Amino acid sequence: MIHFNQPYITGLEKKYFKEVISSKILSSNGKFTKKCQQFFEDKYNFKKTILTPSCTAALEMTTLLLSIQPGDEVIVPSYTFVSTANAFILRGAKIVFADSYKENPNIDAASIHALITKKTKAIVPVHYAGVACDMDTIINMAKKNNLYVVEDAAQAIGAYYKNDPLGSLGNLAAFSFHETKNISCGEGGMLVINDEKYTKRAETIRDKGTNRIDFLKGKVDKYQWVDIGSSYGLNELSASFLYAQLQRIENIRQKRKDQWQLYYKELFSLEKEGKAMLPNIPAYAVHNHHIFYLVCKNLEERSALIAFLHKRGINAVFHNQSLHKSNYYKSKHDGRELPNADRFSDCLIRLPLYYKLSTASQNKISKNILLFYK
Ligand SMILES: *Cc1c(COP(=O)(O)O)cnc(C)c1O
Repeated sequence: MIHFNQPYITGLEKKYFKEVISSKILSSNGKFTKKCQQFFEDKYNFKKTILTPSCTAALEMTTLLLSIQPGDEVIVPSYTFVSTANAFILRGAKIVFADSYKENPNIDAASIHALITKKTKAIVPVHYAGVACDMDTIINMAKKNNLYVVEDAAQAIGAYYKNDPLGSLGNLAAFSFHETKNISCGEGGMLVINDEKYTKRAETIRDKGTNRIDFLKGKVDKYQWVDIGSSYGLNELSASFLYAQLQRIENIRQKRKDQWQLYYKELFSLEKEGKAMLPNIPAYAVHNHHIFYLVCKNLEERSALIAFLHKRGINAVFHNQSLHKSNYYKSKHDGRELPNADRFSDCLIRLPLYYKLSTASQNKISKNILLFYK
């Protein structure tokens, strides 16, 4: 069976684990956490980063930092993972779902304007597959209407909007290092703070609402409860695993690029003949080859293709399901049709893409997909 995904092990992990174990400092904000944070701040021009146990946790931190309240409205694409919306729901916000573009799953920036009301607090662009959203349009609209921009950059490490790294454009951003993402430590994430006024409070929120940081620095003599917060620090073992990945970040990037381009070349005839749609990368986006997908004609065709590949030992999968139609949210949605989000829910299929995927396996996958369409 060709797996859909397999986490990449660089070989440096054991050495770093040993270092952590002999240091006897296993909790958050230790040496490897600081090394990772410094790496991201230097490489991607992020003002401040905080490693977290997940992207979900980082998104929750953004809602606390922006003081999202019951009744606030937040604009989120319907075609995304649950966590993008759930973090705001936990604060009592109302989610106003936006549609995707016809040509790509990202939020249709031109459709956002009509969704803004007096209650709107934030726009949450999700850079699907590590392909940038139209950030100039989104940021200008946010500025004009006094809204925050929180980038869900879960899939977007190392990707750019024009010359700017994704995650550096919103007020705040959240990344994921889940095992399915380009760079991973099993479960992990990162909050990016691009407006330094949030830094101090973010550290308090990470540390359960305490002034632990000031206490450790000797600035206060008592370690106290000073704000709301939760447990949002990443442990050192995970941070050391992540640091091993960062030593290979450019190799991983190049490998995925080669693999992605090979699929594109091998499957291009499907797009040319109008049989299936391949990923469409806007001119403003420098993507990170996180996902290679096809868009089938309809749900039946996609189900048949998944079954066809499965029978031949290939595990290809569908992805997000429109959140406005989810069991949890459908009764709360305002009833607008979001046809493009629905089409990607029904028709998009992701192909295996990971470091150890061989060229022979890719050839086999492409050959079988072409056979299916013949
Ligand atoms: C993976 C993903 C998340 C969740 O990441 P975790 O680290 O598993 O919490 C959130 N949003 C998007 C768009 C994702 O792809």
